[in-house]
Amino acid sequence: MPRTILHVDMDAFFASIEQRDSPEYRGKPVIVGSPPNQRGVVCAASYEARKFKVRSAMPSRTAAKLCPHGIFVRPRMEVYRSESALIMDILRSFTPLVERMSVDEAYLDVSEMEDAVLVAKEIKRRIKEERGLTSSIGVSCNKFLAKLASGFQKPDGLTVICEEEKVEFLKPLPVGSIHGVGPVTAQALQAKGIQTIGDLQNTTLDLAPIVGSFAGTLKQRALGIDDRPVDLSDERKSISAETTFLTDTDHRPTLRAALKEMASDVAQTLDAEGVAALTVQVKVRYSDFTTFTRQIRLQEPATTAVEIYHLACFLLAKNQLVKRPLRLLGIGLSTLVPPTRDQFLLPL
Ligand SMILES: [Mg+2]
Repeated sequence: MPRTILHVDMDAFFASIEQRDSPEYRGKPVIVGSPPNQRGVVCAASYEARKFKVRSAMPSRTAAKLCPHGIFVRPRMEVYRSESALIMDILRSFTPLVERMSVDEAYLDVSEMEDAVLVAKEIKRRIKEERGLTSSIGVSCNKFLAKLASGFQKPDGLTVICEEEKVEFLKPLPVGSIHGVGPVTAQALQAKGIQTIGDLQNTTLDLAPIVGSFAGTLKQRALGIDDRPVDLSDERKSISAETTFLTDTDHRPTLRAALKEMASDVAQTLDAEGVAALTVQVKVRYSDFTTFTRQIRLQEPATTAVEIYHLACFLLAKNQLVKRPLRLLGIGLSTLVPPTRDQFLLPL
């Protein structure tokens, strides 16, 4: 039974809200985050600021250097969260089959509706009229493709990827466009001559030695296959990231680079979900596939990549987990709670 999925993604959400609420910011480079004279990071940048290469998670000081006329605005998380709730209400007025992915992102299963493109146009129109904000929507036959499509023509985009053209559409895209393929994995694939999704489609290589248990999923995604249903069960219970190394390694700089990348991944998800983690876990797997996890329960929930990175290093050292080369290294966060501090104003 063919499905039709929409992925709705708000454009530069926090920065757009600030521009909506303060007309003097419109058309200007707005940077939501710590002031540039303090240690802290950018949590969102308007499209005008992005032209200066300002990106979220970058130190505010760096952002100010790149964009000297940037207008720095402190984040108003409560405002963003209630705006998010209003937008989710609009989405749920079209169908109850809405999976909220983060503060500004959701999947809708519109398989039962007659004209998905019309629904997408109507959603965009209502968000614009009722909330004064623009969104980008992807329409396709599964979640993976719908999400790719929503990112394709931002801002204010509407992109459709049909079942018949999906394999062709994917061909030229870099492997990093597949969720779960971070820079480390992308590099490992590149070392095997796999740069684009098209290369992945055609490869006869066994990917398991490179990406471990992700190999099956990766091959499927390359062909535009994704059977994950729109999940209506409640908020997520855990967040994790894993890296399988090209060759088993105990080389400290490699492990630290992988940990940093994963810490930044999971911290971004925490941020997008508006939650913090009371439990941080590391996972290691050795050449013989024996696997260990060790965790720590915190007094104060962790919110930033730096905290998570240091806790992961601590867990590895304390439990002497890197006495042998690792095949896989992972970070997991659980016991997710509301953040108790303003996570964006912490020093880097
Ligand atoms: Mg967005």
